[in-house]
Amino acid sequence: MNSIIYPTTNFKHTATLIIERGDGAYVYDSNGKQYLEALAGLWCTSLGYNNHELIETASEQMSKLSFSHMFGGKTHQVGIDLAEKLSAMVPVENAKIFFGNSGSDANDTHIKMLRYYFNAIGKPQKYKIIARERSYHGVTVASASLTGLKPNHTHFNLPFDALGVLRTDAPHYYRNALPNESEAQFIDRIVNNLEQLILLEGADTIAAFIVEPITGASGVIVPPEGYYQKVQAVLQKYDILLWADEVITAFGRTGNDFGCKTVGIEKPAMMTLAKQLSSAYMPISASVIRGDMYDAMVEQSAQVGVFGHGYTYSGHPVSCAVALKTLEIYQRENIFDHAAKIGAYMQKRLHEFIHHPLVGEVRGKGMIGAIELVANKKTGQAFPDGTVGNFAMQACQNNGMICRAVAGSSLAFCPPLIVNKSQIDEMIEKTAKSLDQTLDFVV
Ligand code: PLP
Repeated sequence: MNSIIYPTTNFKHTATLIIERGDGAYVYDSNGKQYLEALAGLWCTSLGYNNHELIETASEQMSKLSFSHMFGGKTHQVGIDLAEKLSAMVPVENAKIFFGNSGSDANDTHIKMLRYYFNAIGKPQKYKIIARERSYHGVTVASASLTGLKPNHTHFNLPFDALGVLRTDAPHYYRNALPNESEAQFIDRIVNNLEQLILLEGADTIAAFIVEPITGASGVIVPPEGYYQKVQAVLQKYDILLWADEVITAFGRTGNDFGCKTVGIEKPAMMTLAKQLSSAYMPISASVIRGDMYDAMVEQSAQVGVFGHGYTYSGHPVSCAVALKTLEIYQRENIFDHAAKIGAYMQKRLHEFIHHPLVGEVRGKGMIGAIELVANKKTGQAFPDGTVGNFAMQACQNNGMICRAVAGSSLAFCPPLIVNKSQIDEMIEKTAKSLDQTLDFVV
């Protein structure tokens, strides 16, 4: 236990919790205590724990072919089938799929493919990427540079300047609106800021704008209605690609198959997928690009002799088999419809917390949501650091529920898509009790 360097952890206050097993929407610690997993692990265990079909699929695939790589065109049927299925599902035109192992490496792949593509079409100077404040796109050197959260940069000497990451506003009305600014005025102002940034840098130097349709790690920010329509108009005007990072929002999470549909993004040029792609039973990610982008890279790779990018585990057969089965279960069991229905109920119940003295804002869509805890409910004044959020998260854990404090003092909820109404009620009851305990701590 003492030899582990824990990821995304305060090294000075590492309170370990040994999770031993899981079943359905619950996990159990080494003392047998039960917890409702209200964050689906890290926004990923959509089909919950101990799903026998997925376990058998992995086991069968391991027996049949435990490993085979995809370099030089070597392939296997589960990989081919998964790519075909995904390509037919996503809103990206003639989608082509590159497999990886995590959301972070999939975003790295995208950065490299953007460069490869624009070099191929004779626009090598078009490599910069616009990302938003408070976005989360992963933690490798390149993806952390896209991420717009301080802890992912501080002491790491990031962002990495040579990447050319440009930063624009987070579309969070509650936190970022000016006094007396309407939602419509807020949208106009931040979309105008985006346009000014493009003009300042030069559209011919900017490849893409990466967005999480609805954010996760930065506190579940749902942009005001109409934001993406205006953003898309600007991007079209300046010939900049829209890149949807759907690592959290894909596969039914927000009430539709993809988050793009929920927020009105039409035809993104690129999409990043991971997490619920395999219900987290095996690590796998997908970097999805438009077919014409791939076509442009074909000649380029022939000149070099190879498209010089690929991971040992790109298209790992066990991951592909599990992902394929996960997609089959989503369709066969109508999981996205179920999630939309339960998600509407979850939002209704979460919104009851707006009356709690500690809660400044409740936000979310479908089966992802957050409540922001504030020092002053009237003014919306934030707590100076994450102490209160962490206390609330710990209180939830003591009360038998796992959720996550994000972006300082927001509590995030993202249960497995398979939960039922009574498990949502359980989540709300445990949160209510924990919030009251947090209030006692604060006053
Ligand atoms: N992109 C988004 C939107 C994410 O939420 C995450 C992880 O939470 C990532 C990328 C990085 O994924 P991973 O942790 O698998 O590297």
